[in-house]
Amino acid sequence: MSRRPKRHHRLATRLLVAYAITFLLLMVLVGFVGNQIARDALSGQLIDGLERQATSLSRLIPDDDVQEWVETVTADDKIRLTVVATDGDVVADSRADPAQMENHADRPEIFEALNDGVGDDTRDSDTTGFSQTYVAVPTSDGALRVSVAESALEATLTQFRTRMLLVMGISGLVGITAVALVTRYLSGPLRQLSDTATAIAAGDLDREPPMSSIVEVDQVGKALAAMKHELASRLDSVEAERRMLDDLFDALPLGTLLISGDDVVYSNSTLRDSIATVPQRLKDVTPHRIQSLVHEARINGVMVRSDLETGVPERILHVVATPVTGSGQVLVVVEDVTQKRRVDAMRRDFVANASHELKTPVASILASLDAVRIASTRSPERVEHFTDLIERSAQHLSRIVSDLLDLSRLESTDPEQDQVALDRIINEEANRARDAAGERGVVIDVEVEPIEVIGSEPDLRLAVRNLIDNAIRYTESGGSVSVTGGHGAGKVVISVADTGTGIAQRHLHRIFERFYRVDESRNAAIRGTGLGLAIVRHVVEAHGGRVEVDSELGVGSVFRMIL
Ligand code: ADP
Repeated sequence: MSRRPKRHHRLATRLLVAYAITFLLLMVLVGFVGNQIARDALSGQLIDGLERQATSLSRLIPDDDVQEWVETVTADDKIRLTVVATDGDVVADSRADPAQMENHADRPEIFEALNDGVGDDTRDSDTTGFSQTYVAVPTSDGALRVSVAESALEATLTQFRTRMLLVMGISGLVGITAVALVTRYLSGPLRQLSDTATAIAAGDLDREPPMSSIVEVDQVGKALAAMKHELASRLDSVEAERRMLDDLFDALPLGTLLISGDDVVYSNSTLRDSIATVPQRLKDVTPHRIQSLVHEARINGVMVRSDLETGVPERILHVVATPVTGSGQVLVVVEDVTQKRRVDAMRRDFVANASHELKTPVASILASLDAVRIASTRSPERVEHFTDLIERSAQHLSRIVSDLLDLSRLESTDPEQDQVALDRIINEEANRARDAAGERGVVIDVEVEPIEVIGSEPDLRLAVRNLIDNAIRYTESGGSVSVTGGHGAGKVVISVADTGTGIAQRHLHRIFERFYRVDESRNAAIRGTGLGLAIVRHVVEAHGGRVEVDSELGVGSVFRMIL
């Protein structure tokens, strides 16, 4: 069912129109009735006057020359006088010739006067042609009739009507002024109320509804004030809830983005960290692949996910787009998995490298065992050579396993927090290595200040030992290793310098990687595991420090642990 829209009018217009219509109807009615009453009253008066006049004149009718008397009496010309005989014949008339006039016995007023007493009538006269009022009274020999033109009443009536119109006009004006004043009195507070309601609707919740002197308007004002307070408290709780959700989403380690239609309606700060700026429109979201994931999720109504590579340095983002059922919105969750993927890759490489490293000595042992078996029957003097080979491979295998165990222990636990005298450890490790160094014709020189650090003694000892062992291992006979330790710029610096082979520049940035060796074809006697420096770096970084290396081929190397 359709309703016609209501037309809107201003209060003043409505009141004025209603007033004008009512007033006009009332005035038409009053005018009509008033006019009727006035006419009736006037004509009653006229008839009474004419009757009195007729009665007094009837006594004065002369016995003869009646026509002359009639003309004399009506000399002023306002009234007409007619004398009628008992049979209705006109004896005299002030306006016409009685001889020409017909019998008047059937005229209502004459008929009444001849039979009942006094008669009157108002009608158009046959003689004059105008509307006349007639009054007839009986006389001794017939009747006397006095008549006057109806128009004699009109002048008085017109005067009455003019006065009535004047009074109506004045009361109309007074009424309109009153309506205007009332409207003004009402519409002022109403307009203020409506302004306040509009302001509140626009969010100005500090606005108080004005108080007026009209009870009904004040009731609306009070209701508005109550509604405003209710609205404010609801807005507060909605705002608090929104803030809580914002905090919650901001605290999530995942970037979130809510897309509605073509607009980005929400994004949390984690996302803003991973996508620099978050635009307002979906078409501006980068990387662009996110847009196609959103479209895909929307069209198929299912969750879609993908890894995206972006930025310099390159980062890997794992993006999941989920359609929000029913709302047509799509929730995008972005996780920066760069580190995770890197660790995964490293782990895969590490397993592959470790397997390869372990396979080499095992293969060598197996081959040597075969050789031993054959040599034991054909040339027993060579058996010892092969068992030596087996022993060396087994020792290499054992070193790899022991280094791997060290690494895995270091990775799985945080270093202890003990007071460690680093100078003592350096001295002990240098002394321990001195025999091996002596055998290789290398001199060890130590110069350390007393150094106290907080950390794990076994781990720091392992790091120092690896550096000293490397320095001895990669230094030819006649060379020297110098270990120093001291404080500088608020830090502890331990350096192990040698006059050994040195390392080519291009290898320097990789030697701390696991299983990285500079020269694979190196003599098996000094073949390391490739894990020593990786262990050193891990220990130093776990203690909040860093490692540095300076080296020149053929001159020597300096390794520094800065804690
Ligand atoms: P490795 O067990 O092979 O010594 P490291 O991780 O200790 O493994 O060392 C990695 C590589 O760095 C070694 O293969 C070696 O070539 C080089 N290197 C380490 N220390 C020195 C040094 N003091 N002088 C020259 N080269 C070194």
